[in-house]
Amino acid sequence: MKYPEITNYIGGEKVSNSGNRFLDVVSPLDGNLLSRVPLSTAADLDSAVKSARKAFETWSKVPVKERVQVFFKYKTLLEKHMEDLTFLVHEENGKTLDEARAEIEKSIELTEFACSMPQLIGGELLEVSRGVECRTDFAPVGVVASIVPFNFPSMVPNWTLPNAIALGNTVVLKPSEMVPLSSVRLAELLKEAGLPDGVLNIVNGDREIVEAICDHPGIDAVTFVGSTKVAKIVYARASQSYKRVVALGGAKNHLFVLPDANPLMTATNVTASMSGCAGQRCMAASAMLAVGNVDHIVNMICDEARKVVPGKNLGAVISKQAKERIENYITEAEKQGAKILVDGRNTVVAGKENGFYVGPTVIDFVTPEMSVAKEEIFGPVISILRVNTVEEGLKIENANPYGNAASVFTQSGALARYISDNASAGMVGVNIGVPVPREPFSFGGWNDSKFGANDITGKSSIHFFTKLKKTTVKWNAEAKTNWMS
Ligand code: NAD
Repeated sequence: MKYPEITNYIGGEKVSNSGNRFLDVVSPLDGNLLSRVPLSTAADLDSAVKSARKAFETWSKVPVKERVQVFFKYKTLLEKHMEDLTFLVHEENGKTLDEARAEIEKSIELTEFACSMPQLIGGELLEVSRGVECRTDFAPVGVVASIVPFNFPSMVPNWTLPNAIALGNTVVLKPSEMVPLSSVRLAELLKEAGLPDGVLNIVNGDREIVEAICDHPGIDAVTFVGSTKVAKIVYARASQSYKRVVALGGAKNHLFVLPDANPLMTATNVTASMSGCAGQRCMAASAMLAVGNVDHIVNMICDEARKVVPGKNLGAVISKQAKERIENYITEAEKQGAKILVDGRNTVVAGKENGFYVGPTVIDFVTPEMSVAKEEIFGPVISILRVNTVEEGLKIENANPYGNAASVFTQSGALARYISDNASAGMVGVNIGVPVPREPFSFGGWNDSKFGANDITGKSSIHFFTKLKKTTVKWNAEAKTNWMS
């Protein structure tokens, strides 16, 4: 085992869990054992919540300008440890070093946004009647639980930790049991940056802990990022106990490719979007709506896909089960009559025979009823659906239950705007394959890709992590008592 056994982190201390269930943490790159993660119990969660509640009493009273000082230091620590954090993400998640580094860079950008909170939560003040003023203040919500998935071991925890904490909340983080190592390092760096003990607590585990989070009366708000199946469970169950919830789910992102699109730019963007992070991004291109004759672009996409080499510029998928699931999707599409133009099945990387690799895969002549057209595959696979018109493409995109992202590749501004207006997705790209909104804009999809009113990052997250206090003051003794009249 390369790293010591992972423990929970409660009140600034490493704490053993009370149960005796553990899971191996295996590197998808080569199948080597990295560590063991405890599958904690509801009693462990309870200790973490008690610690977070106690810390909330003092942390919520610290002025915001003082709170963000921690994040200025945390940002410099992320920069200082860029290479070791990058390597850890690479090892535990299986993505390439460049992709892992990009994730740390994004974590820094998220932290920079949290540092700007004093400029964003100034509140409003208005004289609403003679001598009478109303003001608003942003008060923290309380204890926030953050439940995260495997595909971004650093970035997704950093979607919530800096903003929630800078806004005066305290946090219980539940990492993915498949990639728990990065969270340990993030907590160490936050402690080094001066975060008081108890403001961040980590409880490792699986379904049992997630369900306990939904039910725990000491937790005020829950953020969840993961599959739609679990997002629905978490949204319903945590709302049932009157918590504020935002639950981000899976995705099936559609790309419209029009005949006038710039061919090389489109081909490189489509390929990068579908194969980046081995297709394990909720913003990955998954279904391409080829409008009219775009054969020349399809050919270029195949050329680009063949340049993506597993183990070199394409990482591993998370597990053996994930590899099998993705390959089964491809086989099923082939059986149903689709044409596999580039085939990533049965990929083995020399020297890493125990790793979990799937090569880039391009499937053409997919029809809307096939599962590769409808379902989230979460692998480096693009399904091409041939349509005659933009309207036909929009009908397919709109009918899909997800709604995370959509993109359009064209030189026509009018058509780009039309597709952007009519796609049923929360995030749209024009000539961009992975349209992640960067700070201060907010991240969040529509439909089955997100449950809850607010987005999880950017300005929208401020409303999720705070509640507004409205104070009305009469300064002038002469002002009418019934000043509303
Ligand atoms: P997952 O839903 O399996 O797991 C997410 C979290 O839920 C983990 O912490 C896990 O321990 C827990 N969990 C798993 N099964 C559970 C159950 N039955 N009950 C309660 N808790 C459970 O997701 P994953 O496989 O880790 O991540 C991949 C998924 O996340 C994909 O669907 C992807 O699209 C989605 N995702 C979405 C976004 C977004 O912004 N919308 C971002 C990243 C990932």
